[in-house]
Amino acid sequence: MTGPPTWDTPVQFLRTVGPVRALALARLGIATAGDLLRHYPRRWFDRGTVTPIQRLIAGKEATVEGEILTVGERRTRRGGSLQTISLADGTGHLFLVWFNQGYLLRQLRPGLRVMCSGLAQTHTGRPQFIHPDWALVGGAEDPLHTGRLVPQYALTQGLGQHWLRHLIHDTLTALLPGLDETLPEVLRRRHGLSGLGEALRGIHFPATPQERDAALGRLVYEELFLVHLAMALRRRGLTAREGIRLEKPGDLTRRLVEGLPFRLTAAQRRVLAEILADLRSGRPMHRLLQGDVGSGKTVVALVAALFVIEQGWQAALLAPTEILAAQHGATLTRLASPLGVTVASLTGGTPAAERRAVLNAATRGEIDLLIGTHALLQADVRLPRLALTIVDEQHRFGVAQRGRAAAATAGGAPPHMLVMSATPIPRSLALTLYGDLDLSWLDELPPGRQPVATHILTAEREDEVQARLAAELEAGRQAYVVFPVIEETAGGDLRAAKAEYERLAAGPFRAWRVALLHGRLKPCEKADVMARFADGRLDLLVATTIVEVGLDVPNATAMVIHHPERLGLAQLHQLRGRVGRGAARADCWLLTDPWAAPETRERIAFFAAHADGFALAEEDLRRRGPGELLGTRQHGEPGFRLANPLRDAAVVRACADDAAALLAADPGLASPDGERLRRALAGGFSHLLPPAAG
Ligand code: ADP
Ligand code: MG
Repeated sequence: MTGPPTWDTPVQFLRTVGPVRALALARLGIATAGDLLRHYPRRWFDRGTVTPIQRLIAGKEATVEGEILTVGERRTRRGGSLQTISLADGTGHLFLVWFNQGYLLRQLRPGLRVMCSGLAQTHTGRPQFIHPDWALVGGAEDPLHTGRLVPQYALTQGLGQHWLRHLIHDTLTALLPGLDETLPEVLRRRHGLSGLGEALRGIHFPATPQERDAALGRLVYEELFLVHLAMALRRRGLTAREGIRLEKPGDLTRRLVEGLPFRLTAAQRRVLAEILADLRSGRPMHRLLQGDVGSGKTVVALVAALFVIEQGWQAALLAPTEILAAQHGATLTRLASPLGVTVASLTGGTPAAERRAVLNAATRGEIDLLIGTHALLQADVRLPRLALTIVDEQHRFGVAQRGRAAAATAGGAPPHMLVMSATPIPRSLALTLYGDLDLSWLDELPPGRQPVATHILTAEREDEVQARLAAELEAGRQAYVVFPVIEETAGGDLRAAKAEYERLAAGPFRAWRVALLHGRLKPCEKADVMARFADGRLDLLVATTIVEVGLDVPNATAMVIHHPERLGLAQLHQLRGRVGRGAARADCWLLTDPWAAPETRERIAFFAAHADGFALAEEDLRRRGPGELLGTRQHGEPGFRLANPLRDAAVVRACADDAAALLAADPGLASPDGERLRRALAGGFSHLLPPAAG
């Protein structure tokens, strides 16, 4: 290589790297010199604090400073060599021992002062360090491996900690003078953030803990700011397009709302106002509607759909499961067809002939509202006048599919998008994950709802629970009994839905109408069971967690959950949300394993004590992290290196505002600041972005 390395220099051209180590570095995601500097330490060892020799504890790492008294070398029996140095610090003597490192004796002479870090051991009653890290006190170069906070990096096979530390140090030294700042100075000044060079030095080789913390602050802000800027850009790209302008409302929405058996809640009216304002704006809507289980999202979606339909356009509603699609088909047909609206549904189980008929009618514009599962995303679905796509239970789809939903449309102006989710997440996380969407919060439940009474009983008390369940059925109510698996597994001790269904239907509940529902039934069987349960032709549903999403049968007031230990908090919450959907009291019984781990029992107790989906989601996040909760792991979530949107909630809010303000002032990112930001986004930060969404 000619000339010093720059940010973009491929690592194989850096000194000491070469092709083999370059491959190893690539496994860590490091391709360029710049990537090396962004390979932040995982932690720092405190090797700046000196321990007196007298206070060394065998088996513990420590750092000692002292004067070299004697230096010796001898041959070992195997033909190698052994170097021994004795060090004194006024409190005692310490031996430093190396094998086959004769060159050391040219540097380590009696009378010199050294710092050294190692694992304290005792040998014939005297303390020693074997192969310690060392540095001369007052030497020409800053020490890297001792006498300071020492960075510890993630490694991969073929790379050593010392080598990587040197490489990062040398690269940093070479790149620092020409480093390009990423963040505009106004922002750095506003938040008291250090410059990039200082921050990179401070994160890798801090002189003090304060320096490291200042570096962290700056780099966390940078990560979150760049994500929000990218999201804001993406959103602007989406909404800058011409949208379908809807400005001649008819009277369908009014007639629907007047005919409802209930009054919309204030929250429903508020979010509808936000949605309708988007639809009238002439820009494509990209809105996320968050609302806890049972908050009444479906009717909000229907009003929005009728608003486009009454102006001669079509709407589509996507549900994550066949069962939910079928239920939405039934509910929305019941509510909308009396108003003259044509509703049709398509799922993976729709017979081919019917599917063709529906598709033809849809293509001719004869279907106003098309409901379905992701089968709707298939290319043969053409809705020539599609103006609104609604995605229900979006967290079940994942970010990538959300993008596809928007793409599955006819050419011309992009349709408006409304995505709905019942997994409430803290605002800071929502801003980060869904920063390309506008947010609406349905933060009120319909009046008269009581929290579901949740009882924890050990599994051997099942008989009692069955008696309570039978009493509910006797009173004309319906109930769910939920199992985590369909079939028993070999050697498994889990009770499974199929076998338990046989047992319950033939035994304790033989006087009642009982059915089995699980994911492996044929789609038409699932639809049939659900339809019968919904109209009250079934009393008891024995099911797997397939009933978790979206089902709405208000007459069901009791649920029994077997093996609740197997389920996460968010999932339990969704399940329990199937009951207590009306004004009547509802119960949920958790049949627990008396031998469950204390941690698991705590989780179940937390669930029983909390009705609020938000509190449960936060607890789930705390226990399992966002990927698990949101199901985003396989769909891609921003790959933060340092930031944590939950911990850094205040920074998230500042970044979201700063990004919006910056774009308002410099829409084209044409200023020198803007240009640097664009370069930062293009190089090295693309991993922060989730896949593009509609
Ligand atoms: P989710 O937000 O979980 O999708 P749903 O839309 O399924 O909730 O609504 C839950 C239940 O509440 C449904 O039975 C629905 O008819 C009813 N509901 C919705 N809005 C209201 C309201 N304003 N007043 C009373 N009941 C309502
Ligand atoms: Mg719903």
